[in-house]
Amino acid sequence: MRKNIVAGNWKMNTTVQEGVELAKQVNDCVKAGHNNCDVVICVPFTHLCPVAGVIDTAVLGLGAENCADKLSGAYTGEVSAPMVASTGAGYVILGHSERRQYYGETNETLKAKTRLALDNNLIPIFCVGEVLEERENGTYNDVVSSQVEALFDLDANDFSKIVIAYEPVWAIGTGKTATADQAQDMHAHIRKVIEQKYGKEIADNTSILYGGSCKPTNARELFAKPDVDGGLIGGAALKADSFMGIVEAFN
Ligand code: PEP
Repeated sequence: MRKNIVAGNWKMNTTVQEGVELAKQVNDCVKAGHNNCDVVICVPFTHLCPVAGVIDTAVLGLGAENCADKLSGAYTGEVSAPMVASTGAGYVILGHSERRQYYGETNETLKAKTRLALDNNLIPIFCVGEVLEERENGTYNDVVSSQVEALFDLDANDFSKIVIAYEPVWAIGTGKTATADQAQDMHAHIRKVIEQKYGKEIADNTSILYGGSCKPTNARELFAKPDVDGGLIGGAALKADSFMGIVEAFN
């Protein structure tokens, strides 16, 4: 059966020293608690090695927030999937709306990144989600279907390793959360799209996380929905107590 996962996305926040401190706090809490979900922190590239040195990756997963669409070579400033994997990370966020919006990531680049992540044993947390205009003009289901379908070149074995994160762009960092019913409707839609391509077993086993202003106060209601398998958490992941408050929503 699919896993419940709470994953933090630290974005471009914290110095290395602050990040190591935060990671230690989260690690201690995760070790002390009896959590009914997998817990992951996705951190800036600079933080991967030092954070890997202070956490137990058997209990707290570690991920990057992006990786390059090329394997190696003359791509100044890029960080490849093998580089990320060599730090001890096991996850990588791909296709976050901030990457799509500010750095021009397209379905084509994301296909290449996903391939390289999988080839290097990284679990992609693949983000999809509509912008406000698409929510308001009613095209949101089609928009999200086509983002998920960008992965449909993968064979079933590879697709079964993917975690999907539904993040309505209008809810990210805005304090505006999708209602639990809106999240459930979209997650059920995504699962149906996956089922049509890969069959019921793979669809049922795919973890679909919700992201967008998720907090300790709304996580329980969101996670209670049958197709919401956890969260991708931005702002609330930057303090151990609020992040753990979300993890505890599964208890
Ligand atoms: C995110 O960026 O992945 C996210 C969900 O951000 P926030 O929780 O701050 O809305």
